[in-house]
Amino acid sequence: MSPTHARITAVDTYDIRFPTSRELDGSDAMNPDPDYSAAYVVLRTDAGDGLEGHGFTFTIGRGNDVQVAAVQSLRHHVIGRDIDRLCADPGTLNRDLVGDSQLRWLGPEKGVMHMAIGAVVNAVWDLAAKRARKPLWQLLADAPPEWLVAQVDFRYIADALSPEEALDLLRTGRKGAAGRAAALRERGFPGYTTSPGWLGYSDEKLTRLARQAVAEGFTQIKLKVGADLADDVRRCRTAREAIGPGIRMAIDANQRWNVGEAVEWTRALAEFDPYWVEEPTSPDDVLGHAAIRAAVAPVKVATGEHVQNRIVFKQLLQAGAIDVLQIDAARVGGVNENLAILLLAAKFGVPVCPHAGGVGLCELVQHLSMFDYVALSGTTEDRVIEYVDHLHEHFIDPVVMRGGHYTAPTAPGFSATMRAESVTEYTYPDGTFWAADLASDKGAAA
Ligand SMILES: [Mg+2]
Repeated sequence: MSPTHARITAVDTYDIRFPTSRELDGSDAMNPDPDYSAAYVVLRTDAGDGLEGHGFTFTIGRGNDVQVAAVQSLRHHVIGRDIDRLCADPGTLNRDLVGDSQLRWLGPEKGVMHMAIGAVVNAVWDLAAKRARKPLWQLLADAPPEWLVAQVDFRYIADALSPEEALDLLRTGRKGAAGRAAALRERGFPGYTTSPGWLGYSDEKLTRLARQAVAEGFTQIKLKVGADLADDVRRCRTAREAIGPGIRMAIDANQRWNVGEAVEWTRALAEFDPYWVEEPTSPDDVLGHAAIRAAVAPVKVATGEHVQNRIVFKQLLQAGAIDVLQIDAARVGGVNENLAILLLAAKFGVPVCPHAGGVGLCELVQHLSMFDYVALSGTTEDRVIEYVDHLHEHFIDPVVMRGGHYTAPTAPGFSATMRAESVTEYTYPDGTFWAADLASDKGAAA
């Protein structure tokens, strides 16, 4: 006689916001005053093992309540699901969420609704990894290639990548995986840091943080650009002088430019040897990126943190529009869609350098890069994960940097669980921080 199957009993959501805009942390040419926020979701069960699935999507303040409402609109798909079956096949839930015929109208597969799907799907993967007692990267790296392929939705990408090709890539990627997993545990995965380069920082702070980054072992930094060319020339010169010629320096315009401006601006900064120019224009403009790439070489073109789904990534790759593909753990439809994107990148031979920072994005995306290294692309060459030293203290299992590298997580799960105290303090508008802040003059004026 089989025991009663454990099920998902609740999908709880939280609007969590941090007042980061007050220090200009995270400021760039397009986003001058972000309050880093998370639409946070907790899947609760009646399994009696104390395990929960945690997930979130990242926003930058206003609208986080809209994002939370979108997550709530998916609850009926999740509550009551058998946990064993759910964790054995998150792809089925992924397809059910994407395929909700009424909610699909709000996308399809883009924007607030798609990010909400990502938060829920990622929470399921967190639960699955906790139940398997493995960090997510290891769960993926240990999984049979056939099962991984079954997790991918090939709809709209099969013209560029067939299931058979994906299976070949994963089977090939498996060769030598044990050795790479050992190397990963020993050395970690390379990171680069954006901490010195926020637009709101003084030249003195830029210099100090750039030197500190090199001293800590980072081999690449990134500067925000795109608001004022004279300022950018001065800041790039300042940064290059601080780090010397042997350290890579990327620049990031956060979608500020038209195609022509992107070309002119990047060429004007070329004397400082930028490694890549990131988000030079709209993330939807596939052909624009291709034109920019042709015009600014050898400066590389990178994008992805706002690319809404696997289909646009497919086109960027097909059009030869990017040199560097920047997945984000919480923009697309969760781990399943990121598997598709990692496979597309592997097929086209384009390195994946994830976007991170924000709230918890470093914690999540490290797992995807580590899987990619161990069991798919098989290399860390020209691959780095963005790192920002910010807000990690709010997580139970925060990233650990050592010598400019992300240390491989060992705790079971997706590193997505926030501290209960942080949730209590920063829930908007009733958490202890915001209640006090909104009652004060400063909060009222804001
Ligand atoms: Mg960026």
